[in-house]
Amino acid sequence: MTIQDLLGYVDIRGNGAILIGENFTIDGFYRRPIHVITHAHADHLGGLNESVKYVESIIATPATVELILELGYVLNSNSSRQLFRLKTYPLHYFERYMYNGEILELLPVEHIIGAAQILIETKNTVIGYTGDFKLGDETLVIEDPDILIMESTYGDPEYRRPFKDEVEDIFLDIVEYGLREFGRVYIYGYHGKLQEAMKILRERGVMAPFIMPNKIYRITRIAEKYGYVIGEYYNSNTREGREAMRDGYYIFFDHMVKARRRRLNGSTYNIVLSGWEFKQPARMIDDYTWLVALSDHADFDELIEYVERSNPKIIVLDASREGSPKPLARELTRRGFKVYILPGAGELA
Ligand SMILES: [Zn+2]
Repeated sequence: MTIQDLLGYVDIRGNGAILIGENFTIDGFYRRPIHVITHAHADHLGGLNESVKYVESIIATPATVELILELGYVLNSNSSRQLFRLKTYPLHYFERYMYNGEILELLPVEHIIGAAQILIETKNTVIGYTGDFKLGDETLVIEDPDILIMESTYGDPEYRRPFKDEVEDIFLDIVEYGLREFGRVYIYGYHGKLQEAMKILRERGVMAPFIMPNKIYRITRIAEKYGYVIGEYYNSNTREGREAMRDGYYIFFDHMVKARRRRLNGSTYNIVLSGWEFKQPARMIDDYTWLVALSDHADFDELIEYVERSNPKIIVLDASREGSPKPLARELTRRGFKVYILPGAGELA
């Protein structure tokens, strides 16, 4: 099969829809029978309100399905929520789903709760899509596909985190210091990232109660249902929550948008979780606040490492989302890979 033949099986639209084979659209709306969702981040949920009206089925992991309903910001009416429930087919990792001779499989990946990679077999061709990912023990590298479609969030050599293995240690040190000196530690981040932080702290033996507002509490319950071990966490709007806060020794988790209104009078110690930090694992932004570089994306070196281990015949980089596909394409081309950037002319990099 020629490169041109292979490229006939893949396209990426300007709205972020990734088309694979003849029947599947991934992470964006397109008039195709099956809409697959890799994970519950907003930039991968585009067009869902239209999609529920047209597609035959929507496929995602059970955790992602629950998160989409809980987060609520993509299904804007009762009828689209209803249609979503009707058309959703929760698919577990490694389960195979067949449609018109094409086979879909979801593979585990480290990103947020429920996140999956996509593997599709169509007409003797194997096509993988990483979705968003970071490299870690749970990320299964798709080996020897004909085409690998990859994210490129940190696709620029400037986006390297040589310190990434130390971030969790430093995060723990800051939290423990905050608990010891201030009693109250406030951690700000996005949905998914917050639960990741909770999991890390518990794995490393932090015992303080976790307090959080209702929405974060409900997402944490979903995380726990799908395998995160968190324990002792409370909804701040309940009696139990208020009681757990009474002696002033706890960790409060709140959404990133609240970080602007954090307290800077020494009554709390604050941590903001941000992926966009490449110089050091953590830095102080004022007397009472740390920025910690806890990322859920592969950095430049990990993107390259994934491709080296995967060894695809062709790489397609997603340029429809925030990222730096061009420098990544240059480096991969230098290493002897055949790289295309889509959408665009599909030009050879
Ligand atoms: Zn994501």
